[in-house]
Amino acid sequence: MTLAPLSNDVVSKKKIEFIDLKAQYESIKGKVDAAILHVLEHGHYIMGPEVQILESQLSAFCGAKHSLGCANGTDALGLAMRALDIQAGDAVFVPSFTFAATAESVCWFEATPVFVDVEEGTYNMCANSLKAAIDYAHSAGLRAKGIIAVDIFGQPANYDAIETLAKENDLWLICDAAQSFGATYKGRPVGSIGDITTTSFFPAKPLGCYGDGGAVFTNNTQLCEVMGSLRVHGKGADKYDNVRIGVNSRLDTLQAAVLIEKLSIFPEELKARQRVADRYSSALSDVVRVPALADGVTSSWAQYTIRVKDATQRQDLMDHLKERGVPSVVYYIKPLHMQKIYAQYPTPGGSLPVTEALADSVLSLPMHPYMDEAQQNEIIEAVRSFF
Ligand SMILES: *Cc1c(COP(=O)(O)O)cnc(C)c1O
Repeated sequence: MTLAPLSNDVVSKKKIEFIDLKAQYESIKGKVDAAILHVLEHGHYIMGPEVQILESQLSAFCGAKHSLGCANGTDALGLAMRALDIQAGDAVFVPSFTFAATAESVCWFEATPVFVDVEEGTYNMCANSLKAAIDYAHSAGLRAKGIIAVDIFGQPANYDAIETLAKENDLWLICDAAQSFGATYKGRPVGSIGDITTTSFFPAKPLGCYGDGGAVFTNNTQLCEVMGSLRVHGKGADKYDNVRIGVNSRLDTLQAAVLIEKLSIFPEELKARQRVADRYSSALSDVVRVPALADGVTSSWAQYTIRVKDATQRQDLMDHLKERGVPSVVYYIKPLHMQKIYAQYPTPGGSLPVTEALADSVLSLPMHPYMDEAQQNEIIEAVRSFF
C-alpha cells in the first residue's frame, strides 16, 4: 500500500484543540502520576489527607477563611443553598445566560428561580434587571431570599452593585464561580466574595481535575460547619451520628491529589491565558466584538468569547473556521428562560433582550494556556479571512 504524499506543512501542523488537556498533562505528567500512585498506595480513597491539604491550599490561594471540596460544581451550589436554608416558595435571582446548573440547583428545593438579564458589555448579571426582578418577586408574593451571580466566561460579576442590592433587600449572595476561580474583582480574589462561593473542577474549567469535582468557599464558620456536615449525610460527631438530612458529596482523594499538582502551576497558566486573550483582542477587535473586562477586574478566561452581527453570520463564520481546522463552540445557544423546562419560572418583563441577542451572536474560540503563537496566528488568520 502506498500512502498519498503529504506536504511538510500538513504533517507538521498540530491539530488545534478547543481546550488542550493533553498538553497540560504532558507538562506535569511526572508529578501527577506520582501523586496518583501515592494515593493508590496509601489507600485512603475517601477523604484522604490530600483533600484537607488541597482545601487549605485553596483557602490560601483565594483568601477565603474556609474551603470544602465536594463532588462537583452543581452539588456545590446545592450545598450552599441548603446551608442557607432555602425553602419552597423562596425566590432566587439568577441570570439566564449561564449553564443549567445555576438554576437547576434552585429547583431542587422547590424554590423559584427568577431570571435576570445580563449587561451588554460583560455578559454578567445586570444590576438594573436584578432590581426589577426583586420588585417583581415582591409584587408576585414570593419571598425574595437570595442571588446567585455567575462569573460568566471567567470574569467576575458586577459585585459592587450586586452586593449593594443584596444588602438593601436582605438577600444572601452566592457567587457561582465555576468558570472564574483564579480571577479577581477590584483586588478581591474570587472565593472571598459573597456569603458563599462555589466552583467546579470539571476538566474543562480553568482549574480542572480528571473527573468531577467542586468546592465551596466561605468566611462564615457556621456555614462551613453546616456544609461540611451536609456533604457527609448530615453528620454530627461522625457519619453514623446524623443531625440533618444531607447528601453524599465528597471530593475524591484521587481528584484532590491531581488538583494539588494543577494548583501549583495555576498562577502560570492564568498568565498564559491572559497572554492568549491579549493577542486575540489586539488582532481581532477591528472585525468582531472582543470581550470587555470591567475596570479593576481580571478574568480567568474560561472562555474567549467574541460577538458577531447575528445568527446567520455566526453560522457562516463557524463553517469557515471548521474548514480551516479551527474548533469553535457557542455558549449559550439556548438561554435558560427559553428552555422548555425552565420557561415555567418567572422572567420579569417577559423577555431578556440582551441575553436573547447574545444567544444569537456569541461564539467562543479555542482558549487554553498551552496554545503556541503559531497556532494562535492560524486561528486569528482564520477569523480575519472571513471578514
Ligand atoms: C460548569 C458549571 C457549573 C457546574 O459544574 P459541574 O462541576 O459540571 O457540576 C455550574 N455553574 C456554571 C456557571 C458552570 O459553568
